[in-house]
Amino acid sequence: MQDASGNLACSAPATHGQSAILRSETTSPALPWHIIGQGLAGTCLAWEFLRRGIPFHITDIGHGGSSRVAAGLINPITGKNFEPSWRIDEFHPQAIAFFQEIENTLAATIWHPTPILRLASSEKEWKKITSKLDLPHIRPWISGNHPTVPAGFIGAVELTGGGRVDTAEFIKLSAAYFSEKGLLTIGSISEPDSSAILCQGAAGLMENQLGPHRCAKGEILTVRADWPQSHIRIGAGGWLVPIGDGHFRIGSTYEWNQLDEAPTAAGLERIIGIANKLGGENFDVTAHVAGIRPILRRSEPLIGKNTDGQWIFNALGSKGTLYAPEMACMLTDWIAEGIRPEEIFIYPTH
Ligand SMILES: Cc1cc2nc3c(=O)[nH]c(=O)nc-3n(C[C@H](O)[C@H](O)[C@H](O)COP(=O)(O)OP(=O)(O)OC[C@H]3O[C@@H](n4cnc5c(N)ncnc54)[C@H](O)[C@@H]3O)c2cc1C
Repeated sequence: MQDASGNLACSAPATHGQSAILRSETTSPALPWHIIGQGLAGTCLAWEFLRRGIPFHITDIGHGGSSRVAAGLINPITGKNFEPSWRIDEFHPQAIAFFQEIENTLAATIWHPTPILRLASSEKEWKKITSKLDLPHIRPWISGNHPTVPAGFIGAVELTGGGRVDTAEFIKLSAAYFSEKGLLTIGSISEPDSSAILCQGAAGLMENQLGPHRCAKGEILTVRADWPQSHIRIGAGGWLVPIGDGHFRIGSTYEWNQLDEAPTAAGLERIIGIANKLGGENFDVTAHVAGIRPILRRSEPLIGKNTDGQWIFNALGSKGTLYAPEMACMLTDWIAEGIRPEEIFIYPTH
């Protein structure tokens, strides 16, 4: 749904207020919706239901899934073409407001705003970046600072509006909050009924829930190193994210054939190559994880109903942190208020 100014808009108030959350706790859950899956999709939807007083229960396997391993990066200007993420002006403010509101409710830090250093390795890449810096849709995300260019790169631009969502922490703390209220069960649902809202990420897509998919496995390293912690570094085909205490997360890989959650030697080698370019030679690997990104068509998120009449929220792709909060809001609008979103967000067979 778009408002008169062309921005995405949900029917609920723009802020996720404590009062709205408290109101829901007094609502008697007559016919609870059954959210299946507590990754970013299911968790954001659950918070949205909670704040609007819509009864629900979540079931999640309790381990695995993409959100438990994701780097949680929000990067406004991405890719080789140095272009804004899809509909960034609409999704970005909603995502930041959402995570900040949940931080208040959980009394925890989930959103870590961090300037991004976009690095160019070649003259061609640098030329492309510099040719776009003054474009009206790019300029708002450029800080205007002139960062030092790290060794091995020929140019660097500092971006604003970026950072990382600690997705694992968000999932874990939300699970504890919902559990304490009796709203979460750990288990696997094999035959969902008509109250189900399927938020199963890649596991659901690989069961063919929405037809042909393009899910991609990715691996990430966590390392300890004496590298600068002031910026997220993006370049050389990867990223390096400071997470505090001299630790960094580095990634990632894309693999479309071997869709499992097992780290591999090839992934390790590839990410060590990225680490060498973005950080340096000296580091200790402290963790190596893998997950599967839930990807359909052009990596744009989808909501809708399947042919069995169950609601579905999936296809968050590589940008779940950016898309999940607003998509959860739109799905709630649709389920609770009958407000149909723009067609581009709807699963095509609906
Ligand atoms: C290596 C890697 C790096 C990434 N980096 C970023 C990043 O920097 N920024 C970003 O925004 N995104 C990133 N992503 C993408 C992000 O992880 C996804 O967009 C997002 O987490 C998907 O959330 P989801 O809830 O749809 O799926 P998931 O997180 O996979 O959640 C699905 C949940 O459903 C549960 N489930 C499945 N089947 C059942 C069942 N039958 N019964 C009960 N429960 C079930 C699973 O256990 C899981 O908990 C990355 C992904 C990977 C793999």
